[in-house]
Amino acid sequence: MLVSTKDMLVKAQKEHYAVANFCIWNVEMLSGVMKACEKLQSPVILSFGSGFLVNTDINHFVNMMRSYATQTSLPCSIHWDHGRSFEIVSHAIDIGYNSLMIDGSAYSFEENIRMTREVVDKFHPMCIPVEAELGHVGAETDYEEALNHYMYTDPSQAAEFVEKTGIDSLAVAIGNQHGAYTAPPQINFEILEKVRRDVSIPLVLHGASGIGDEDIRHAISLGITKINIHTELCEAAMSAIEAHEKGEGYQALNIRVRDAVQKRAEEKILLFGSNGKAEGWFEK
Ligand SMILES: [Zn+2]
Repeated sequence: MLVSTKDMLVKAQKEHYAVANFCIWNVEMLSGVMKACEKLQSPVILSFGSGFLVNTDINHFVNMMRSYATQTSLPCSIHWDHGRSFEIVSHAIDIGYNSLMIDGSAYSFEENIRMTREVVDKFHPMCIPVEAELGHVGAETDYEEALNHYMYTDPSQAAEFVEKTGIDSLAVAIGNQHGAYTAPPQINFEILEKVRRDVSIPLVLHGASGIGDEDIRHAISLGITKINIHTELCEAAMSAIEAHEKGEGYQALNIRVRDAVQKRAEEKILLFGSNGKAEGWFEK
């Protein structure tokens, strides 16, 4: 059932687990993720963003995402990831998303606040929760090189940012990065602790593929309640493709990919502790 991302995250924060935000852009990924969530009775955020438009025509795919979200008995939202302008997120809501991230992290602190506030003012009256990012989670090819000029979230700005924007969740930059890590991730938990101390809204970890299980558990214990996974689903799919035997056929390959995505999604759900959390959702 389509529910508010905000409701899912507030519940997760109270009960100390995290909801997976699976970034997906085709039917194998979508159906694999949903099978995992059904099996483990987990709430889920299905997300899509501009980076996937080269693969998928969103005006059609949104209907597929919405169809899964409305027909499942699980709490589920469909979320627009990293909307980099008012126009982009407006289009996402127009075509049927019920959750969004406005990403002004490439701009100054003041401009990030201004554009985020504009989005909050427009979409809160429509009950659309808004996520924003402070600091900047990049997507560079060389992780160690990226760390040399990494734009960490400044904890001293967090409270002001949340207060002035009125957002529902905050994405932090604490050494996390999009894509595959070329060196072991170095997560700065001190920053996370400071942010957690100063703001009460749910915190979001992007670029979580490849971050070790211990670090993920630690991050959840310090207040991370939404965790974005994309690269690991792609890696699972690629391994399935590589294991494909000649002569097996395209249909069988599709099933292999879907099953591999499901398996990886299940591992993440168990790690995040959201398994079983769909139960009783609609009885409260
Ligand atoms: Zn991201």
